[in-house]
Amino acid sequence: MADVLVVVDHVEGSVRKPTLELLTVARRLGTPVAVALGAGAGQTAGVLAGHGASRVLVSEASEFADFLVVPKVDAVQRAVELVDPVAVLFVSSGENKEIAARLALRLESGVITDAVDVEAGEDGRPVAVQSAFAASYTTRSRVTRGIPVITVKPNSAPVEPVEGAGAVEELAVDFAAGVRGARVVSRSARESTGRPELTEAAIVVSGGRGLGSGENFALIEALADALGGAVGASRAAVDAGWYPHAHQVGQTGKSVSPQLYIASGISGAIQHRAGMQTSKTIVAINKDAEAPIFDLVDYGVVGDLHTVVPQLTEEINKR
Ligand code: FAD
Repeated sequence: MADVLVVVDHVEGSVRKPTLELLTVARRLGTPVAVALGAGAGQTAGVLAGHGASRVLVSEASEFADFLVVPKVDAVQRAVELVDPVAVLFVSSGENKEIAARLALRLESGVITDAVDVEAGEDGRPVAVQSAFAASYTTRSRVTRGIPVITVKPNSAPVEPVEGAGAVEELAVDFAAGVRGARVVSRSARESTGRPELTEAAIVVSGGRGLGSGENFALIEALADALGGAVGASRAAVDAGWYPHAHQVGQTGKSVSPQLYIASGISGAIQHRAGMQTSKTIVAINKDAEAPIFDLVDYGVVGDLHTVVPQLTEEINKR
């Protein structure tokens, strides 16, 4: 069976859930080989083996923390040379998409981003499934030369524990030749809200201009907390200064694909849909029955969010 290279997202050795989903996708194509980089990478091996990784290539070189993406591109390229995989899979994130694009350029192959699934084609070569135009169309595409590099959105596949050998191997990377680009001069941790990360959350509750003020985001936060979800925002709400840009969902914000997306006071502009249309179940609360968001939803509530959202929160908190 062909090997599939899975690039691991982890925080100091703690593997993030989308990587485990990616291992499920990888197993449909062949045998997953994981590559984990940065501080704590060696600690990921047990969890990765428990989700089907046959090998875990590890490098904890300091270059990954000292510079932006280039050392990671060097390392993944080295892993590709060692493994000769049928595909390289990344979790879709801003940084990973940059690494993926640079890697594809070096491999003289091609990159497909934001897939919602990857299938084995008739000839065994991977076919990426993407969702377009507010989930109206599903496209299947493939890289026509070289080793395909594909980024897959979080929440695209279930996490399935499966025993793999998980043999740990040191990945020796020669960083000397590469141009380093930008050096990291400082890092500061973002203040934690205790809520899940927006792009990884199984539930996202978003607010838009219909909230009327930044203070009213408290309604959205209360509903998100009742559901254990993350908070999102439309660009109109972000541009008004009501909520930080890090929470913006859409074309110029983040792309989310949760099990449940609740849009409150959001009209459903195409640029907003671009970031949430692959959500599994979509609920909208809007006082205008003609709002375009209702074309997209599984469940819609026509009503004033200032009444509906607190009622919903109260009802959920009772259970
Ligand atoms: P509106 O369109 O003003 O909608 C507000 C909605 O709230 C209305 O439907 C209204 O009926 C409803 N409402 C009002 N009061 C209440 C109430 N009391 N109870 C219930 N409902 C109520 N937008 C994004 O979101 N993300 C992006 O990444 C993004 N990128 C963009 C990129 C470009 C290049 C451009 C041109 C635009 C982009 N936009 C983006 C902006 C997008 O076009 C819309 O302007 C924006 O999404 C509108 O936000 P909204 O739905 O909150 O506001």
